[in-house]
Amino acid sequence: MSSAHHPAPEDGGPRFRAFTPRDLDGLLRRMSLTPAESLALRAVATVLPFRTNTYVIDELIDWTAVPDDPIYRLTFPQAGMLPPPELRRMADLLSAQAPRAEILRAAHEIRMRLNPHPSGQLDANVPVHEGRRLTGLQHKYPETVLIFPRQGQTCHAYCTYCFRWPQFVGEADLRIATDDITATSAYLRAHPEVSSALITGGDPLVMSTDVLRRYVEPLLEIDTVRSIRIGTKSLAFWPYRFTSDRDADDLLRLFERVVASGRHLALMAHFTHPQELRPPVVREAMRRVRDTGAVIRCQGPLVAGINDSADAWAELWDVTTTLGAVPYYQFVERDTGPQGYFGVPLARGHQIFRDAYARVSGLARTVRGPVMSAMPGKVCVDGVAEVAGEKVFVLHLIQARDPALVDRPFFAAYDEGATWFTDLKPAFGADEFLPGLEVG
Ligand SMILES: *Cc1c(COP(=O)(O)O)cnc(C)c1O
Ligand code: SF4
Repeated sequence: MSSAHHPAPEDGGPRFRAFTPRDLDGLLRRMSLTPAESLALRAVATVLPFRTNTYVIDELIDWTAVPDDPIYRLTFPQAGMLPPPELRRMADLLSAQAPRAEILRAAHEIRMRLNPHPSGQLDANVPVHEGRRLTGLQHKYPETVLIFPRQGQTCHAYCTYCFRWPQFVGEADLRIATDDITATSAYLRAHPEVSSALITGGDPLVMSTDVLRRYVEPLLEIDTVRSIRIGTKSLAFWPYRFTSDRDADDLLRLFERVVASGRHLALMAHFTHPQELRPPVVREAMRRVRDTGAVIRCQGPLVAGINDSADAWAELWDVTTTLGAVPYYQFVERDTGPQGYFGVPLARGHQIFRDAYARVSGLARTVRGPVMSAMPGKVCVDGVAEVAGEKVFVLHLIQARDPALVDRPFFAAYDEGATWFTDLKPAFGADEFLPGLEVG
């Protein structure tokens, strides 16, 4: 077991404890698995990241429902996450007790075949300032810059479907991160078109408040930055971050400072399943965050076997709205890592979105989706229609690298099995979706 960066609680609040692949055998003893099943799960955890914590295990997972429990599936490895030949190869190495170097080499090779950096994550969006590439920032859409703090590139637990999984497997070349706060500020000053700074990870709230402050405070000196967002799953995975951790109150004071500066502060909260909203402590955490004047906006991906039902989404949007949060995006699982296992076809995904959307009040219909963060931008599947005798997907870009393409409807040939933008072809035999819209 290991501790995260953030400090222990002051007075009796739970102390953060993480479980890593080393603890997996012990955790799996809670279930009656055959040796082969348990070996398969260890094989998956050798290639893809695994990390959970005491709160997820004791408060979120319903062990009587395992292995179908959604939170179990959200955090524990499953055999289907690797293609069968890769799974067999890793399981064979483990059962033969192959040398560590050989296991690591195989794990690396398998990762490289899982499209670790979809949509040009590593290169395409890295800004350049005074001749220097600012790795650790991403600037794809004119008005928003993403900041990946070096100390925030881990999470309180890891989602099995994580699209940023290469950040967590300990291979330095696969990582995006910065601690050059001066360069970040210089870049933002040179780009007054950037009105929104999004601090993300990993999960920036694994950082202590003191470290987070070093990233946030300089932003308050830049007048053109009007909103600050913090992308986090800590409300779901470690709500004590906002209640009883030693620097929880300092964190809330920092939020208040941002709000007092006249900026919009949004906690971009990642929620996957309504079960994450049931413990009283998460509700208390949300109340405390809202009391600072920050807005909680909720987003998460649609993933097979975890939340691929209209019931799950309608409840998620309904409860978050009741708790004063704002539904924001429903994402499509990206084309990386275990997408083959967790991906939901766009046609089915849209049906789930629509069935859930139709059931919630207008207050919760702030949500947009299903959305693909693809190379040209955020592509929203608006629906399926018949146009000029052809069955088509109707789509539009919510965000685009080229703002001229934003909010213009376009059409793709209907394909029941398509799971990602690159699977789609323009409808009506056209050569392109829209003039200037590059697919990959
Ligand atoms: C989603 C995303 C944003 C934020 O887009 P909004 O529509 O403003 O929420 C910014 N940059 C990148 C690279 C993104 O993927
Ligand atoms: S919280 Fe986000 S970054 Fe962290 S493991 Fe889950 S999906 Fe990945």
